[in-house]
Amino acid sequence: MTALCAAIFVTDLAQAKRDIARAAEAGADMVELRIDTFTEPHLVRQLAEECILPAIVTCRAAWEGGQSDLPDEQRLAVLEAACHGQTKYIDIELQTVRRGHDLPIGRPVICSSHDFDGRPSKLHNIVLEMNQRPGAVNKIVWSARSIRDCVEAFELLTTRTKPTIALCMGEAGVATRILAKKFGALLTFASLDADSGTAPGQVSIKQMKQLYRWDAITPETRVYGVVASPVKHSMSPAIHNAAFSAVGHDGVYLPFLVEPGYERFKAFMETFLAFPPLHLSGLSITLPHKENALRYLKEKGAEIEPLAESIGAVNTIVITSINNQPSTLSGFNSDYAAILDSITAALSITREQLAGKRVAVIGAGGTGRTAVAALAHYGANVVVYNRTLDRAQKLAEEFPGKTGKVVAAPLENLCKSCCQIYLNTTSIGMHPKVDQSPIDGNLPDLSPDTLIFDAVYNPPETKLLQQAKAAGAKTVSGVEMFVRQAVRQFELWTGKPAPTDLMRQVVLCRLTHS
Ligand code: NAP
Repeated sequence: MTALCAAIFVTDLAQAKRDIARAAEAGADMVELRIDTFTEPHLVRQLAEECILPAIVTCRAAWEGGQSDLPDEQRLAVLEAACHGQTKYIDIELQTVRRGHDLPIGRPVICSSHDFDGRPSKLHNIVLEMNQRPGAVNKIVWSARSIRDCVEAFELLTTRTKPTIALCMGEAGVATRILAKKFGALLTFASLDADSGTAPGQVSIKQMKQLYRWDAITPETRVYGVVASPVKHSMSPAIHNAAFSAVGHDGVYLPFLVEPGYERFKAFMETFLAFPPLHLSGLSITLPHKENALRYLKEKGAEIEPLAESIGAVNTIVITSINNQPSTLSGFNSDYAAILDSITAALSITREQLAGKRVAVIGAGGTGRTAVAALAHYGANVVVYNRTLDRAQKLAEEFPGKTGKVVAAPLENLCKSCCQIYLNTTSIGMHPKVDQSPIDGNLPDLSPDTLIFDAVYNPPETKLLQQAKAAGAKTVSGVEMFVRQAVRQFELWTGKPAPTDLMRQVVLCRLTHS
């Protein structure tokens, strides 16, 4: 069973014992004690004897990315002193092993190699050499050049001949840390808390267990994720993993950092799809890859939802497998359905009853485009108000209404508008500029029958929504759209009804505690 190992940098005995106790409390199975600067042999021995969790002890040399300037012999002597009590392994760099020193004999050795500059050019030779060396465990770690390196780390684990730790550092390598258990690594490292990691990209123990479903991951677990750049602050892992747990779906949802550009997106897809043991089953696609996803799926001849194709953006990919080989890809746009369903639920009408409704779409960017396409498709009369009129005009021309009309207007004219539904798709009012509203000084007539829908979800109640409430209008928050697009993704991937209330709670909780 893959251990969850808390990485602890030791500065003194009391701090180390405190941190080990915190690691045990957080649910770590073992600890890595980094004693680079804590090298008094009798104290090292005391630490090993008083440690309450199984431990790896490491005195990492500065030339391997650590902080110890001691010569090999002295570091090995310090590690010898650590071979007591709960110490399960000592970690010695391959380069030190290569130099032919007598290794400490009290505990099995993890023979390790780290490259902070990128993938070692002789990665496979290093592993072959480690297999010949006396270490009991191979540990190979490098800085991911891109997310594609993760697959090589997974391959090293699935083809191992010794117990192995294979990890990629950095944000692009996060998947190797979380999926270590899926591929049978000896262990993965996690930090005690968000700020205390000993290597770039480490996820905290709490996040591993609560956010990324560590305890539920098995070799069969299906993998899902959000493809984005940046991806670090995405709420999607929280919402989908909570939903998987709630319905007992054997899946885990990760952040996939894919840098901008079609070629990078395509290379990511090809690499991940070409590795069936990953069980890649579904992707959320967001900035800047929604158009790239559509282009890729078209190139592959995949099935694409017609409205997603006309909007020009795919935000959901479903991957089905036959005999564990990814075989069919299909693309959807859950944003447009989320917009329509947020509106129709608030007005207690069907999509078809949108026909003839007067709708103001404020903004002509990605979300504006999705809203206009969806509303025009269902026959609404749409006015697109945008700061850059040109852009609104192009959008209106591109999506002539099926039965209603789509026209453009300058943003200043919003105050003269007399629509039944107002949909803000600009970023005005979004955190941190929460004191702004697209209708400031532009207040149209609002009545209790008017619906104001703000796509902005942070904060959940924007200034626009407060103004609308004060005028007695109905309101819908962007949280509703966010939750509904995730609900549709969940249902497309799992075929099960989504725990919508729980998903909404997760989003609201994240937004109010961030
Ligand atoms: P986008 O493509 O960059 O479009 C931004 C739009 O906002 C453009 O029409 C732009 O007008 C307008 N705009 C920006 N700043 C403005 C200002 N100061 N004054 C007037 N107009 C301004 O962005 P997007 O991806 O569509 O996202 C827009 C908003 O929707 C964001 O707040 C995002 O968080 C939210 N969103 C929510 C969800 C959800 O699930 N709730 C999903 C997606 C997006 P110009 O054309 O003149 O530049």
